[in-house]
Amino acid sequence: MTKLGFGFLRLPLLDKKDEHSVDYAVLNSLTDLFIEKGGRYFDTAFTYLGGASEEAIRLSLAERYPRDSFILADKLPSWVIKNKEDCRKIFEKQLSRCGVDFFDVYMLHWLNEVNYINAEISGGFEFLEELRSEGKTLKTGFSFHDGPELLDKILSKHPEIDYVQLQINYLDWKSPAFRAKECYEVALKHGKEIIVMEPVKGGTLANLPPEAEKIVLEGCSSSPASAAIRFVEGLPGVKYVLSGMNGERQLSDNIEKRPPLSEKEISALFEAAEIIRSKTAVPCTGCSYCTGNCPLQIPIPRYFEIYNEYCRNPEDDWKIEHAYSALTRNFSRPSDCLRCRICEQNCPQKINIVEILQKVSRTFGF
Ligand code: SF4
Ligand code: SF4
Repeated sequence: MTKLGFGFLRLPLLDKKDEHSVDYAVLNSLTDLFIEKGGRYFDTAFTYLGGASEEAIRLSLAERYPRDSFILADKLPSWVIKNKEDCRKIFEKQLSRCGVDFFDVYMLHWLNEVNYINAEISGGFEFLEELRSEGKTLKTGFSFHDGPELLDKILSKHPEIDYVQLQINYLDWKSPAFRAKECYEVALKHGKEIIVMEPVKGGTLANLPPEAEKIVLEGCSSSPASAAIRFVEGLPGVKYVLSGMNGERQLSDNIEKRPPLSEKEISALFEAAEIIRSKTAVPCTGCSYCTGNCPLQIPIPRYFEIYNEYCRNPEDDWKIEHAYSALTRNFSRPSDCLRCRICEQNCPQKINIVEILQKVSRTFGF
């Protein structure tokens, strides 16, 4: 069975401004193709697309395929829960939204220093074990966005956990901010199976600067996205690799079976990583975790995408400025930012959003 998992965080939408406008014609054909090519693992969360992701699991998967033909993972928002009754209410809602009566994998979502404390106080870990004993989940786990020291502490305290979901990709592997390699090694030390998220870093590793793309194409004989996936699939202990997929070509490319990368090919990726790092102004993955609580609903990732494009291709400035103007006509501008920093508390990439928004505003002049 392929290790590739279908992540339902970013789905094809009919209207990019409306996260509930899932394009089911496209999504259903992707779900069908994924299953036809041997994919089984699907991943969602209570908060993805404001609940539309779980509904999409029901409509595109659970109501169209027998329950034993797919593996479904869902996540409990660790920063929302206050007690076990809360956990239970959310869990029941998730079952109903997804149209299933159990999850194969149920996780605490997004543990970091703050959310971990909340999960402990609220009985989140005990709740996972209750579900396991009731047969409502077969495996338990948590997704993690912090350093190896905290990961070690959590896994020492909770050896009962089956899976750890980590952000791993070749760009973050040696990054002092993400410490992906160190987190991976901690999970292995505790004998945990690993689910990888963001193997292509929100698309950053699929659309490389030309110099980096040349190195990857020549050095790995794979498309950039496929090389990024091969990097994580080849790591011992990796059980599943999640990828959000928006088109049939992308899905076919991602799921195609290829051998793990050789040492020489991995060296080519690290060489490309140096170039990518030097060309990517803002390491935003487009996950949109920052936008939900912004009082002005500033479309932060879209502004960062435009800014990154400008930094990569300054000679295309007229096209990029056009996209920027169009966005400011429909949404609050970066210069409107209140500097409340609510968004920054939710950014798994630890981006200094307020400062960067100011920089974006200065760059485009308004
Ligand atoms: S700091 Fe700015 S972008 Fe962030 S939540 Fe506040 S207003 Fe929104
Ligand atoms: S700024 Fe951070 S939270 Fe917002 S979309 Fe980018 S990576 Fe995600």
